[in-house]
Amino acid sequence: MKAIPTCDVEEAVSALRRGDAIGLPTETVYGLAADATNPAAVARVFALKRRPANHPLIVHIASAAQLGRWARVVSPWATALAASFWPGPLTLVLPRAEHVLDAITGGQETVAVRVPAHPLAQKVLIAFGSGVVAPSANRFGRISPTMPEHVRAEFGDDVACVLDGGACAVGIESTILDVSTNTPRILRPGAVTVPMLEAVLDTPVASTAEAGSPRVPGGLPAHYAPRTPLELVDASAFRLLDTGPDALWLTWSADPPAGSGLRLPAEATGYAKGLYAALRILDARGARQLYVEKPPESQQWAGVRDRLTRAAAGAGADERGS
Ligand code: AMP
Ligand code: MG
Repeated sequence: MKAIPTCDVEEAVSALRRGDAIGLPTETVYGLAADATNPAAVARVFALKRRPANHPLIVHIASAAQLGRWARVVSPWATALAASFWPGPLTLVLPRAEHVLDAITGGQETVAVRVPAHPLAQKVLIAFGSGVVAPSANRFGRISPTMPEHVRAEFGDDVACVLDGGACAVGIESTILDVSTNTPRILRPGAVTVPMLEAVLDTPVASTAEAGSPRVPGGLPAHYAPRTPLELVDASAFRLLDTGPDALWLTWSADPPAGSGLRLPAEATGYAKGLYAALRILDARGARQLYVEKPPESQQWAGVRDRLTRAAAGAGADERGS
């Protein structure tokens, strides 16, 4: 299998115009980008990711000025949120414009849209002039890529090229906020938190139950999952556990036992930035069990908690989401 070549912005835009899929750096994770108006290109993204057809995709655009091309209604809430958080890691779910492909919306009456902040994504979107779908550039259910080499490891030469944008600054997927109804609702937590949104909206923001909440037994979608079985362990307990020689640790409050894991920063933004790369490194060691120290309970950590809970639900299993 050949490696995916690195491309520049011009080559990336040509590939998108041809209907090819490319590896696109965003500030959240690397996306598998394709022309959002080209049904064959969108179908190729689903095929490459092996993603089930009913999982809708996010349309990425260059600026809020293009939002009206994708959304039938741009409400005052949407306008205010776009002004505050775009470009940035917030996706808005809005009533769809008529022409938006059913493959993108999952056949729903809404469409998800975001303006990414990464300078290379910005350059590509400005030159391309239209929207691209860009789900995380990993096979369905696997750990999302935050470095160009992660995209190469996932896709070999199935992708036309990858733009080298270095390590992603945010490191976990965007916050998804549904503003298509009378109650703004978080569908996926991320770097833009509930208090940040409420400060702009001046109204309470609802959240779907966090993955792993005991109120949704059996409803845990597996996601972002390493192959190694992964268990979340209380911060207070982790120093006491005798985990044996073929177990690995991912910690934040103290170092793991010597040679048996990695430690991430003890604040949410630094932790999120390093999370997926750390999971990939630990997964590659082929341990029997990966123990992850539970993150704190505060709002700032909601995105990290969500990803780790899904990773724990999906680790070692076959049924996953992407
Ligand atoms: P990603 O894999 O990062 O591209 O994110 C795709 C996710 O965005 C989907 O799995 C949904 O959770 C969410 N999403 C996209 N479009 C919609 C929509 N129209 N309504 C609700 N959620 C959506
Ligand atoms: Mg994904």
